[in-house]
Amino acid sequence: VTSMAGRHVALFGLGGSGLATALALQAGGARVTAWDDNAAKVAEASARGVGTGDLRALDWSGVDALLLSPGVPLTHPEPHWTVGLAHAAGVEVIGDVELFCRERAAIAPGAPFVAITGTNGKSTTTALVAHILREAGLDVQMGGNIGTAILSLEPPSEGRVHVVECSSYQIDLAPSLKPTVGVHLNLSPDHLDRHGTMENYAAIKERLVARARIAVVGVDDDYSAAIAARIRAGAPVSVERTLADGFMRDGTGVVLMRGGEAVERYDLAGIGSLRGAHNAQNAAAAIAAARVVGLDRAAIERGLRTFPGLAHRMEQVGRIGRVLFVNDSKATNADSTEKALSSFERVHWILGGKAKAGGIAPLAPYFPRVAKAYLIGEASDAFAATLDGQVPVERCGTLDVAVARAAAQAAEDGAPEPVVLLSPACASFDQFPNFEVRGDRFRSLVRALPGLVPVGG
Ligand code: ADP
Repeated sequence: VTSMAGRHVALFGLGGSGLATALALQAGGARVTAWDDNAAKVAEASARGVGTGDLRALDWSGVDALLLSPGVPLTHPEPHWTVGLAHAAGVEVIGDVELFCRERAAIAPGAPFVAITGTNGKSTTTALVAHILREAGLDVQMGGNIGTAILSLEPPSEGRVHVVECSSYQIDLAPSLKPTVGVHLNLSPDHLDRHGTMENYAAIKERLVARARIAVVGVDDDYSAAIAARIRAGAPVSVERTLADGFMRDGTGVVLMRGGEAVERYDLAGIGSLRGAHNAQNAAAAIAAARVVGLDRAAIERGLRTFPGLAHRMEQVGRIGRVLFVNDSKATNADSTEKALSSFERVHWILGGKAKAGGIAPLAPYFPRVAKAYLIGEASDAFAATLDGQVPVERCGTLDVAVARAAAQAAEDGAPEPVVLLSPACASFDQFPNFEVRGDRFRSLVRALPGLVPVGG
């Protein structure tokens, strides 16, 4: 990014996005002094060529901006100490999304930019929008709060679409955020630790859609409905209310309403990755966004039908005959696994890893759906004890063995749709670096099974 060329930038927070930001700034000719409370992160950044130094010792009179990583408190419960130093010196405090927006304004102001926020469903909607646009043959870059850090994506250029998930933290640090399409899905109490009050949290979300060329706003909760009314959202979205204008749920699909008339219908029936009312909201918002970018109904429907779902979250990997394979590696506790178990009737359940407090006892109401449990990792003894007498159990040790055993036994299962489900209800750290590596391993083991037909191509 070149907007800081020749300037001196202080940067705090050297996680993935912080490191990407520091490297992008330096590549664009800025001088960076980066810091983190974690000495290992500072050392790693230094080894990658990033300028580092303790920001307490810095002469802030020569600093042009403080770049803050998302998650570092700007206001609540109290500002991070770097924010105090920046304010005292009259230095602006911004984030990586702000740098992206300045870059886009300078080099490709006409390139479509879809920014997505909300309390729930951000990642699903972002992935779905990106998938629909890609299936239609567009050059799509997706990232931000999901996946790749925004400054690690390919830069803006005319003819390229950026689809970016924004957390409230990122919006708060991006005063020039003006997307082509701004999507705000919903609002419920969350992150109040960081934003203080619901009003403040809502005001931050409102900023993303208020400045968008076209605003797509979910109106099913009162806070979001108030936002839509205040900014006169171009495309209201609802799965609970009847709309005269906008995108609303209608049976198993979504309809576009204009002046009280249904003018277009999108069917979601049979799309496994978009089950449930909450996904109808995500789909309706994605349809609205794709229309603004210029896709027609047929192209959007094609994208909806081939959406595999988010990686590692109830991701439908593929089928062998009647057997469906689902990767829910993201489920690291019983609460998340409950959503998965409640979605299927007949489950060959791969679980285990590093157990969390509470274990799987709260899942007992779903045990009748479990044909068999395939245990892996450290939690095997504890889980076997909880399941004892209620669910047949096989101790598999590793994920590799569990996939082979579960696939073989699900193939013999006479149920209409047996599901081999990795939903571990555990952290992965005893056997994997993180849940992504665990889910990737599951996916590649499944894809290597004879006769596997991938979902969504
Ligand atoms: P986020 O990125 O906002 O955390 P995700 O798309 O990753 O959201 O979804 C996380 C979980 O939130 C899902 O597993 C689902 O249970 C729930 N969810 C998804 N979309 C919605 C929605 N539109 N409204 C309410 N809950 C949702």
